[in-house]
Amino acid sequence: MMLKTLRRIVQDVTAARDLDEVLAIAVRHIQQALAVEVASVYLTDFERREHVLMITAGLRPESVGTVRLGMHDGLVGLVAERAEPVNLDDAHEHPRFRFFPESGEERFHAFLGVPVIYQRRVLGVLVVQRKLKRRFTEDKVTFLITLAAQLAGAIAHAEASDGSSAERLRHSPTQRFIQGVPGAPGVGIGTAVVVCPTADLGAVPDRSTDDPDAEVRAFRTAVAAARAELKQMGKRLSRALPAEERALFDAYALLLDSDSLIQGTVDRIRAGQWAQGALRDVIQDHARKFDDMDDDYLRERAEDIREIGRRILTQLQNRANVARRYPRRTVLVGEEIAAAQLADVPLKRIAAVVTAKGSSSSHVAILARAMGIPAVMGVAEMSMSKLDGRDVIADGFMGRLYVQPTAAVRREYTRLARQDSRLSQELQGLRDLPAQTPDGVHVPLYVNTGLLADVTPSLKSGADGIGLYRTEFPFMIRDRFPGEDEQRQIYRQVLAAFSPRPVTLRTLDVGGDKALPYFPVHEDNPFLGWRGIRISLDHPDIFLTQIRAMLRASEGLENLHLLLPMISDVSELDEALRLLDQAMGELAEEGCNLTRPKVGVMIEVPSAVYQADSLAQRADFFSVGTNDLTQYLLAVDRNNARVAKLFNTLHPAVLRALMQVVEAGHRHGKSVSVCGEMGGDPAAVLLLLGMGIDSLSMTVAGLPRVKWVIRTVSRRKARNLLRKALEMDDAHAIRAMLNRALERAGLGSLVWTGRVEPEETAE
Ligand code: PEP
Ligand code: MG
Repeated sequence: MMLKTLRRIVQDVTAARDLDEVLAIAVRHIQQALAVEVASVYLTDFERREHVLMITAGLRPESVGTVRLGMHDGLVGLVAERAEPVNLDDAHEHPRFRFFPESGEERFHAFLGVPVIYQRRVLGVLVVQRKLKRRFTEDKVTFLITLAAQLAGAIAHAEASDGSSAERLRHSPTQRFIQGVPGAPGVGIGTAVVVCPTADLGAVPDRSTDDPDAEVRAFRTAVAAARAELKQMGKRLSRALPAEERALFDAYALLLDSDSLIQGTVDRIRAGQWAQGALRDVIQDHARKFDDMDDDYLRERAEDIREIGRRILTQLQNRANVARRYPRRTVLVGEEIAAAQLADVPLKRIAAVVTAKGSSSSHVAILARAMGIPAVMGVAEMSMSKLDGRDVIADGFMGRLYVQPTAAVRREYTRLARQDSRLSQELQGLRDLPAQTPDGVHVPLYVNTGLLADVTPSLKSGADGIGLYRTEFPFMIRDRFPGEDEQRQIYRQVLAAFSPRPVTLRTLDVGGDKALPYFPVHEDNPFLGWRGIRISLDHPDIFLTQIRAMLRASEGLENLHLLLPMISDVSELDEALRLLDQAMGELAEEGCNLTRPKVGVMIEVPSAVYQADSLAQRADFFSVGTNDLTQYLLAVDRNNARVAKLFNTLHPAVLRALMQVVEAGHRHGKSVSVCGEMGGDPAAVLLLLGMGIDSLSMTVAGLPRVKWVIRTVSRRKARNLLRKALEMDDAHAIRAMLNRALERAGLGSLVWTGRVEPEETAE
């Protein structure tokens, strides 16, 4: 029973339009479910350092907004500072009780306060009160705790995206943002345009219309088309289906004609919603009524209503997509965004891309990086329907989304964006200069890519070669495994464009979060599952095809390096080398004239760090994948925004692992490179330089900055910084120390953390 109530509350809250509605739903349900006289919500105003009564059911309405308690004041303050529930039979007896005559509280004695906590921060307190002088029973306490935990996300999100209540709360000088993960660097300031998967009612955003007549017409046409479609289907199936099932189609037809559906939608359009939004609301209202029925049969009718809704929606969307207009600075927002949806927007109108799902290795992120569009991924808490048309800022460096940014935040980001592009222009002067330190150490800089479209910008950037070509992408955009010739052509273009500079082709690294549409793998823990080299070795056919294509592509060019992803065991390397020899032998027999490529191992699994010596004896070089290495060392999913704060490549454990890898490689005379994102982070580069890293590989956009660092800071200086860093045990302190060093070296404009740090928004 409780579970059902909880689920219902959460459902309603998720559908709420703004913070006020979230709170109203919460108190109404709490009052009912716990049978209490009073249910109230206090939220914390961090700027004024007060807890504010935001809503109440049971106290006098005029006390809303006027009852304010100091941070450590009253029982509410006690709940907040302890971050745990307080359950009293008589609040009046408690020394911390503060009486507000305007609230009419004198009649209520029993008090239960539960903190609302989101990502360690107490955002406010839920309070229930009643006349009876008796403590609340344990099941009521746990109900409220469970509810608070579930409400916290909705409240945090509503606060972050609802301008009016944030203002009322004067939340913090540094505005709230929604945390995602960085997808592509850069800052995009513009208007959110929500793209939704077609035929998904829940994903339809709110959008107002200034031409209701046209919307009503569109809606009526869509209904007529859906009706015709259903009739057709009914006819086609009439022979195959028993009468009973056929009746379903009649039921659909009846629903389609129902006045409440048609007129309800039209009314909402007339009130200002566009047709898709109006339809969504009406269908959801109807479906919910059936959801609540006790009769199984009737409950299932809810699904029929949704099905009808989907059909009308599809008709509406088919027509709307044809004539879509995008604002001048469009921030494309979606649950997921397909490449085609991105391609639909004229390039000069795209300011940024933001998705709720996905990660830095999703298609869109890869595409966005190649196209130079800032991207934020994995913004899971984002509630799409309320974003359309809002002013937003997408920070692709830090992976954040600001909704309705304050003037101050906007000013700061505009300044940063301007600085960013000025710096990029200035750094173009370094293009043809070598990446060499003032004390003469040459650290070749390579680019990471996976797209042919990237080849020209990479060449233009003055890169020394390609340090990581992710071959997954050509595999992802097809509907089957690409054949040997198909692959050879792609690889040949990259190898030829860069020859004689080295090009490192990595063998297929799918699995984890990178799925191939035609090779679905479902696992509970994909990052610990069938991934990278593990798939390749289990499918020698796929692996051999790829290696043969790479070898053939390199014929006559001699600049191919092979890189093996996800090696976690020496035997995997041995087996991969054996297959390489087999492919070499076959091709020699076929008359190809080949030189054996250099073979590198990606060090991205902790076990490879500890086996670095054995691996170095067998391989020609190491390339450290710091994205995965950090993920596996720190047990932090690289694509999970909830733990994004814990993902830190400057973590002392990561630094020590890197030291071991460099030392082991060098002991055996093998070169060591870094090709994870860390290699493009100017502060981290100082340490890598100090460790004696032999080369770095990064995104094209990051290359000029890193070159500037290398050309400015001597190896000797970098060694000193490394020594200092190794004495420290906190990643944030290490970053601060490195930022200071960058500033002192005149590289202050590279310090990304000039941006608002999450810590600063804490009280
Ligand atoms: C890495 O893990 O650091 C890496 C470079 O590989 P990917 O990001 O493709 O997993
Ligand atoms: Mg990796």
